[in-house]
Amino acid sequence: MVLDGGGDTSLLLMKDDVPPVLEQNAAGRSPFLLTCDHYGRAIPLLLGDLGLPETELNRHIAWDIGVAGVASLLSRQLGAHLIAQRYSRLVIDCNRPLRSPTSIPLISEATLIPGNEGLTREAVEARQRQVFDPYHRHIAEVIDRRLRDKVPTVLVSLHSFTPVYAGIARPWHVGTLYHRDTRLPPLLLKGLRAQGDLVVGDNEPYAVSEETDYTIPVHGEARGLMNTGIEIRQDLIAAADGQREWADRLAKVFGEIELELRART
Ligand SMILES: [Zn+2]
Repeated sequence: MVLDGGGDTSLLLMKDDVPPVLEQNAAGRSPFLLTCDHYGRAIPLLLGDLGLPETELNRHIAWDIGVAGVASLLSRQLGAHLIAQRYSRLVIDCNRPLRSPTSIPLISEATLIPGNEGLTREAVEARQRQVFDPYHRHIAEVIDRRLRDKVPTVLVSLHSFTPVYAGIARPWHVGTLYHRDTRLPPLLLKGLRAQGDLVVGDNEPYAVSEETDYTIPVHGEARGLMNTGIEIRQDLIAAADGQREWADRLAKVFGEIELELRART
């Protein structure tokens, strides 16, 4: 059997498992390249339910609730290429360095993950090679191609956050998420605040760091791309109408940002 596993012969993904990478609008002409690390909550068949009940697998610990709908609609509205991960962050977190202790979490919020206990080195590497690597390799290849073809490229990493974490309520509707890029996040903050009815977090509820993040440091900062992350509160986008509303909001803001960036060049 040939797997997209970089020569890895240990079995994780089988023929009835979905491919890890979901792609939409690959020929889109927008400068915005959308990524979505926590888009899906699939689990390889071999791993069963990771020892968790369905109620846990529906929670934010397994994926970014609502963001799939927003990402797909936004990709369509902007004509932007979207690259997303179908597998759950509980299988392997595609926004964590592989060296991070939470790459394959033993606990998430207060939930122990039985299926992640006592993994052999081979089991860890199978998840890395067959779920994490193909996703990040594809993002890197797409960026390579765009840079080679001199296509303007701005990396936007889409996430959602739980309204209450460890008993603490979060007041923001949406937040920008960044580290070193000082060009794009101020434009995004300005655009979101101009909508008038939003509590906008500036690097809230999270900021990006090399210890806790992968996509922005590796594909954005290390490649010298303009970049930002966005975090949307999950209760606002849990249902289809909220997903449409937020795709519309972001499409408007990014449309304005694109005009401003083009005017500067
Ligand atoms: Zn996320």
